[in-house]
Amino acid sequence: MSQVAIIGGGPAGLMAAEVLAAAGRSVTLFEAMPTVGRKLLMAGKSGLNITHAEDHEALLRRYGAASGRLRAALDGFTAQDIRAWCLGLGVETFVGSSGRVFPREMKASPLLRAWLARLAELGVEIQTRHRWVGFEDRGLKFATPGGEVRLQFDAVLLALGGASWPRLGSDAAWVPWLRERGIAVAPFLPANCGFETAWSPAFAERFAGAPLKSVTATSSAGTLPGEFVITRWGMEGSLIYAHSAALRDSLLADGRTVLEVDLMPGRSQDRLARDLARQPAKFSFSNRLRKGAGLDPVKAGLLRECVAGAAGLDAERLAAAIKAVPIVILRPRPIEEAISSAGGIGFSELDERFMLERLPGFFAAGEMLDWEAPTGGYLLTACLATGRAAAQGMLDYLARR
Ligand SMILES: Cc1cc2nc3c(=O)[nH]c(=O)nc-3n(C[C@H](O)[C@H](O)[C@H](O)COP(=O)(O)OP(=O)(O)OC[C@H]3O[C@@H](n4cnc5c(N)ncnc54)[C@H](O)[C@@H]3O)c2cc1C
Repeated sequence: MSQVAIIGGGPAGLMAAEVLAAAGRSVTLFEAMPTVGRKLLMAGKSGLNITHAEDHEALLRRYGAASGRLRAALDGFTAQDIRAWCLGLGVETFVGSSGRVFPREMKASPLLRAWLARLAELGVEIQTRHRWVGFEDRGLKFATPGGEVRLQFDAVLLALGGASWPRLGSDAAWVPWLRERGIAVAPFLPANCGFETAWSPAFAERFAGAPLKSVTATSSAGTLPGEFVITRWGMEGSLIYAHSAALRDSLLADGRTVLEVDLMPGRSQDRLARDLARQPAKFSFSNRLRKGAGLDPVKAGLLRECVAGAAGLDAERLAAAIKAVPIVILRPRPIEEAISSAGGIGFSELDERFMLERLPGFFAAGEMLDWEAPTGGYLLTACLATGRAAAQGMLDYLARR
């Protein structure tokens, strides 16, 4: 019987193992760390947003330029399929107010436990502490506690993850080994990450940790509603993550970029100008902002921080400034802190079965492929869907040999 290997025990690799073993293949999964699914468990700390309940076409659009190449995989394992699959593992899910889907228990460990039990029943062999360290002709070299071992398989599925949070296992050490084989791998960049700004020490000191709620922010990604948090070094939070690809790309292209924040999206500029003009002249600037424009201390602080001479502006100009506070962005936070990464194996290297054209018999899936998506469950959705599709591609390949 043919022997297949999966390298990487994240959601993509585990899903591939399930599909291959359920089809009767003898599967060995190799994982560098002492346990599998570490990033999945980390995602569980914030509730495990496993997919999104929006319309399927809207979901596909979240993958931007890669949506065409991901379509078949995502059509084959939709958000509803993911929810049904969770239920099959005894994990009920629910749709949160924003359409994000979470397990009822808001954590990953029960799902991972049930999943590993299913894989064990299917006969999947998991070899932890087996770090793939490169090729040996058509074979593979692994560093293990007992020394280096060299193994050969009929087909191999790489599911090594991206480059964020390397301490959880996905450290992108594999990039040069694939490049040596002529495979194009786009450099990894932080995605869904915070950004650094040049806050004054006084602002950073006073407002680090403070949330800006019910604002909108505009970049080349468009105008999006949401909230974010001030940090000592800059800003983070869901609204910043939603803009992160656009901010990162315009920094790369132009060396500078600005995020424009509307502190009062519910009030028109004219209305704000009238409300501000009505405030008694004896009021302090802070009082004018609070009573006239409804700005809480952190919003007022951000306005002062980013708009030079704000206190001297007349009502008209102040209203305009409140509707478009320009925050100069310096750089993204390091990839080590990002929720996910952009970059990876180019789709031009893969056939429609997710097989590497330059390495027949080698397949790839998950975050190691060159796509990115915002937070909202889209990352796990595409990792699960591509893991499944690549495993099906491998079954097709093995059947035709
Ligand atoms: C803090 C945080 C929160 C997140 N929250 C969410 C969320 O709520 N919703 C969501 O959709 N996504 C979330 N994500 C992203 C999501 O977890 C990842 O996109 C997903 O885990 C990627 O799956 P993967 O299988 O491709 O890779 P990974 O999960 O990274 O797994 C890759 C595996 O390969 C192993 N490996 C790497 N190199 C080798 C090697 N040389 N030899 C052997 N094994 C190797 C690694 O140890 C790892 O176990 C979050 C990420 C982080 C960091």
